[in-house]
Amino acid sequence: MRKILIVGAGQSGLQLALGLQSQGYEVTLMSNRTADEIRSGRVMSTQCMFDTALQHERDLGLNFWESQAPRIEGLGVSVAAPDGGRAIDWVGKLDGYAQSVDQRVKMAGWMETFAQRGGQLVIHGAAVSDLDYFSRSYDLVLVAAGKGELVSMFGRDASRSPYDAPQRALAVAYVHGLGPRPEHPDFDAVRCNLVPGVGELFVMPTLTTGGRADILFWEGVPGGPLDAFQGVKDPAEHLSLTLELMEKFTPWEYARATRVELTDAGGTLAGRYAPTVRNPIGRLPGGGLVLGVADVVVANDPITGQGSNSASKCAAAYLAAIVEHGDRPFDEEWMQSAFDRYWNTAQHVTKWTNAMLGVPPEHVLNLLGAAGELQPVADRFANGFNDPSDFENFFFDPEKTSAYLAEVAGG
Ligand SMILES: Cc1cc2nc3c(=O)[nH]c(=O)nc-3n(C[C@H](O)[C@H](O)[C@H](O)COP(=O)(O)OP(=O)(O)OC[C@H]3O[C@@H](n4cnc5c(N)ncnc54)[C@H](O)[C@@H]3O)c2cc1C
Repeated sequence: MRKILIVGAGQSGLQLALGLQSQGYEVTLMSNRTADEIRSGRVMSTQCMFDTALQHERDLGLNFWESQAPRIEGLGVSVAAPDGGRAIDWVGKLDGYAQSVDQRVKMAGWMETFAQRGGQLVIHGAAVSDLDYFSRSYDLVLVAAGKGELVSMFGRDASRSPYDAPQRALAVAYVHGLGPRPEHPDFDAVRCNLVPGVGELFVMPTLTTGGRADILFWEGVPGGPLDAFQGVKDPAEHLSLTLELMEKFTPWEYARATRVELTDAGGTLAGRYAPTVRNPIGRLPGGGLVLGVADVVVANDPITGQGSNSASKCAAAYLAAIVEHGDRPFDEEWMQSAFDRYWNTAQHVTKWTNAMLGVPPEHVLNLLGAAGELQPVADRFANGFNDPSDFENFFFDPEKTSAYLAEVAGG
């Protein structure tokens, strides 16, 4: 059977490894951490995944936590007004529910399953020289190592990367004790709170190592008042800063957060990175070729909550491309075509996410405002998180936005 090496045991690497394994491929997975280290380590994401991405997991029988994780049935948008109230506030209903399963739970669990099913798991932080050596004994080497150092093997694609610096400072806190959203306590939703010129606060339920919890996730414009977490090492200090900023900029969220406490000592994360699209094929010093997967090749800012969704979609696209290719060599042409297949969906995510990082133009503000009056607009916007290609139809072009709003308003 064909031998495949996957470097990196995150959403894409594990999903692909387990998928290939179930098709009879001989898969080696290289991870720089053990399952226990991941489970007892720091949170890595907010990992909210929508229906299409979750379906790829279901298709492979990997939805182990679906019955325990909260079902996120809506997605709301609030825009802060200068008086401390909200200029805009609505919630759209998702056609299929979303879920967030703490990556510490999922990656540790999937890694153990991969090993139990006979997969070769190597705990080692791979360097380029390792890949050079190993590439000779595998039919295909996939680099699914996220935003780590191995990305340096893949050249930045400037034509697809409008930003060369981080556009947001990120600060995450996992908490217990958050009160329900008073407007809609009957169903779970992600709430995106936009604070014009300052940043965004995302609040969503998750399943973490200690059961159900909620995530408070600030995205701050660099250099602004939310860009305050650098150098904060103490988790308790991180949480009190998160709450202080909520009281100041999103008092309606603070009102339900007065009794929260951190889920665990690893329940906070802060950092930043520049959104970057890279060339998908890496050339090793010895001449071998490797194919980049998910964040390695397309890393978007988490403002639209798409990275894990995209990692799932990338893994599904590559799995199909590998299986369809049968016994033929995984050459440069095949690698490019596998990436192009993924880019068909990824390009929409990148375009929309990069647009959301900028100052919203007037027609987008009109659209967000109209969603408060017209429920079908709210619902369509919410479902765009599941399939961002739909934004082409009503989001980017002012004429298409007005035509769409006129159509909905006309009934
Ligand atoms: C704050 C924040 C919030 C986010 N929120 C969301 C969200 O709500 N929804 C969403 O869809 N996405 C979200 N994302 C993005 C999402 O987490 C990532 O895009 C996704 O995890 C990428 O998956 P991946 O498989 O490419 O890489 P990763 O999940 O990063 O996995 C890469 C793995 O490779 C390992 N590794 C790295 N280098 C090496 C090496 N040299 N050798 C061996 N192993 C190595 C790493 O330790 C890691 O385990 C968020 C990201 C952040 C930072």
